[in-house]
Amino acid sequence: YAGKRQLSGPLRYDPALDSASAQTLSLLTELRHAVEHHELRLYLQPKIALHGQPGLAAEALVRWQHPQRGLVPPMEFIPFAEQTGFVRQLTLWMFEEVCRWLATPAARHLPLRVSVNLSTRDLLDPELCHRLAALLARYGVAASALCLEITESAIMDDPQRAEAMLNRLSEHGFKLSIDDFGTGYSSLAYLKRLPVDELKIDKSFVMGMESAGDDALIVRSTIDLAHNLGLTVVAEGVETQAILGHLRSLSCDEAQGYAISKPLPAADYLVWQTRQG
Ligand code: C2E
Ligand code: MG
Ligand code: MG
Ligand code: MG
Repeated sequence: YAGKRQLSGPLRYDPALDSASAQTLSLLTELRHAVEHHELRLYLQPKIALHGQPGLAAEALVRWQHPQRGLVPPMEFIPFAEQTGFVRQLTLWMFEEVCRWLATPAARHLPLRVSVNLSTRDLLDPELCHRLAALLARYGVAASALCLEITESAIMDDPQRAEAMLNRLSEHGFKLSIDDFGTGYSSLAYLKRLPVDELKIDKSFVMGMESAGDDALIVRSTIDLAHNLGLTVVAEGVETQAILGHLRSLSCDEAQGYAISKPLPAADYLVWQTRQG
């Protein structure tokens, strides 16, 4: 969308090249530089309730304000950051940025809940829990103000370790959400054991709901499944009012997507929220 630029030249990561390549080193150097020189930006995308009480919720999404290349979307550097392990620093940067924002005078007294994405690497990091807890303490933010999103495929990468980590995070008071649900082949029996609060239906199904095919059926079954397991269900990638209405009629709990709002710079989120009245 607006502001999006394709990376070109040495910055575009090509996984076909081996990890010792000059290209990898140069992107890693650029990413480190980006964190140190405050080139990363916190964007917030509103999430709305479709029934009952309107809550104040948003998903935190990273953007890279690159001095030459403009606003770089996460899919152009997150997969690379995953591969090199740098994503753990990125997660901590994002988590701290969200805590800092939640502690500002404008946000502090509002019943906000912000979702932060974790990566596969984070699930293997034994230090993660206490690092997150230390950041909460530093900014005086409650764990319940944060929801951690973990993709279904990251969980299924190493289900046992993921389960152990989710249990620890849940004991710390974090809300937990399974992101991109429907793409990761988890079993029902397994899902039931995880201490999660929310399922987020992958946008590929939501975007196809009004077209011929199985997407509407998959969305409806996922909503029923989530409710039968006692979970809140969120649809991501809601691009039209027709789909929003359809989701409401299926008793989906929450929605997120361009039909509601694009991701906004954090400073604009409360302005957007106020205008909703
Ligand atoms: P995600 O967590 O599934 O986030 C939802 C993505 O869908 C976001 O893309 C969002 O901008 C996009 N989206 C929202 N509404 C719509 C819509 O109506 N239509 C369409 N087509 N797309 C919509 P974004 O911001 O480009 O992020 C892509 C992915 O990058 C995220 O997917 C997440 O996996 C990852 N990501 C973003 N920020 C972070 C971060 O701070 N840490 C980690 N580990 N991953 C992140
Ligand atoms: Mg997410
Ligand atoms: Mg998602
Ligand atoms: Mg997704």
